[in-house]
Amino acid sequence: MSTLPIRRTGDDMIVLPAARIAGERIRAHADDAGTPIFNASTGETIGWQESASAAHVDSAVRAAHRALGAWRDTTPAERGRVLARIAELVEAERDALAALQMRVSGKPPIEAETDAGDVATTFAYYAQLCADGAAFADEPIALPGDAAKAVRFYDAVGVAALIMPWNFPMVTTAWKLAPALAAGCTVVLKPSELTSPTEHALIDLIEKAGVPAGVVNVVNGGADVGAALTAHPLVDKISFTGSTAAGKKVMRTAADDMKRVTLELGGKSALVVREDADVDEAVALAVGGAFTNAGQMCSATARILVHDSVYRSFMAAFESAVRGLVVAPPEVAQAAQAAMGPLISDAQRQRVQAMLQQGIDTGATVAFSGHVAEGAGEGFFMAPIVVAEPAADNVLWTDEVFGPVACVKSFRTDDEAIALANDTRYGLVATVATRDAEAAKRYRAQLRAGLVWINTPQLIFPQVCWGGFGLSGIGRELGIAGLRSYQELRHSMQAN
Ligand code: NAD
Repeated sequence: MSTLPIRRTGDDMIVLPAARIAGERIRAHADDAGTPIFNASTGETIGWQESASAAHVDSAVRAAHRALGAWRDTTPAERGRVLARIAELVEAERDALAALQMRVSGKPPIEAETDAGDVATTFAYYAQLCADGAAFADEPIALPGDAAKAVRFYDAVGVAALIMPWNFPMVTTAWKLAPALAAGCTVVLKPSELTSPTEHALIDLIEKAGVPAGVVNVVNGGADVGAALTAHPLVDKISFTGSTAAGKKVMRTAADDMKRVTLELGGKSALVVREDADVDEAVALAVGGAFTNAGQMCSATARILVHDSVYRSFMAAFESAVRGLVVAPPEVAQAAQAAMGPLISDAQRQRVQAMLQQGIDTGATVAFSGHVAEGAGEGFFMAPIVVAEPAADNVLWTDEVFGPVACVKSFRTDDEAIALANDTRYGLVATVATRDAEAAKRYRAQLRAGLVWINTPQLIFPQVCWGGFGLSGIGRELGIAGLRSYQELRHSMQAN
């Protein structure tokens, strides 16, 4: 892809500017050496990025504010054409985007390719909503009597601050950016400081698609830059994906100006394997749910509940699947039937290992583990771990690990499984493996989660909303609700 990183030096290093404001790449002061960007699967430094100052954040928000009027006044059909063009460009550059994703995050090829495909389908979905127009049309409201008529309509909320995590860069960005642009909002986007190259590559394509200058702006940096962005008085809406701890800070800051918030936070989700489940399929759900993206998923189903009667057969098959996972860099993972990539950083690996140790020190038992492939080198790899029957108050059972650690507990009745699954302050997703349609209905009704998968892996379609209960956040992304989260609901009433 010709436009990928902003600037490369002779030795193929990625260099990212402090900000991109109204189409201009803004460099930091000369004394800002920048922070390194790593390849998670080799541990090597592959580039440098500068950090935005408070003044850059202010300029970016003001640029978005200036661009708002004209972009909000475009028709949904006009915005839809721009979104469709973005989807086409992403589709055309899918391989290059996946390659960059592998180079930064070290994801196995199948995961990186899926990410790039999801970006294209998300933009295509919102392009279609815009083209269709029905979601943007005035909705007449029937009133009693004939004194007046009322209309419900939706208007862009304004300038949106979009803050990204590192586990699904580009995908999370598409989930926020596509509906924000569809709604007529302008944005300032802050990538995670760990995975900014893929976000910049996506922004290159967005600029190429003809999004007017100032409609999409980027500020690079960490928590301080995110905090400055969320505090800016000209920001109307914040969409944040990240940890529950940071999400609480964002919500407190938002309260000062009553900014609208969408918070997609952590999870501690359950997979329930009933006595009538197909054990091999349930194991595939367990491996995918716990170890995709090395377990660094808000939706990880890392609490696996297995009916007593199939517990032994499940554990035997689960063990051989986990031992068979090839934990290796993308080039090695390419040839493997099932693979797992590295953690995103050495700091994240240390955090996960410390939590695992804490769990073990307080009584958790490791049932089995996989292994890191020979030749994985200096990458941030960690073997997948399965813990059996942890106590209900063990940290590995209660807290989000965000790494390749899964816990398995047995149960005897559906009541017990539902109670265990719901015994958490999170509520993002849940998975149920059962061949009993009535039981599936009951689980769907009683599991406290935003999305319940029944006998399906963690499929996500842009038509189906994403978001959860409790500490998992506020609001929904994707689908019509995702569009509405960038709109204000309005009404008008007129005398007959
Ligand atoms: P994080 O909270 O450390 O950082 C997320 C983003 O917020 C980063 O861009 C970071 O720079 C920024 N940030 C940090 N503190 C901030 C503050 N006070 N104000 C504004 N911005 C701030 O999270 P992470 O480590 O990047 O991501 C992992 C977390 O994200 C996990 O807890 C995971 O469950 C969650 N997550 C949730 C979803 C979801 O859809 N629910 C999806 C992916 C990740």
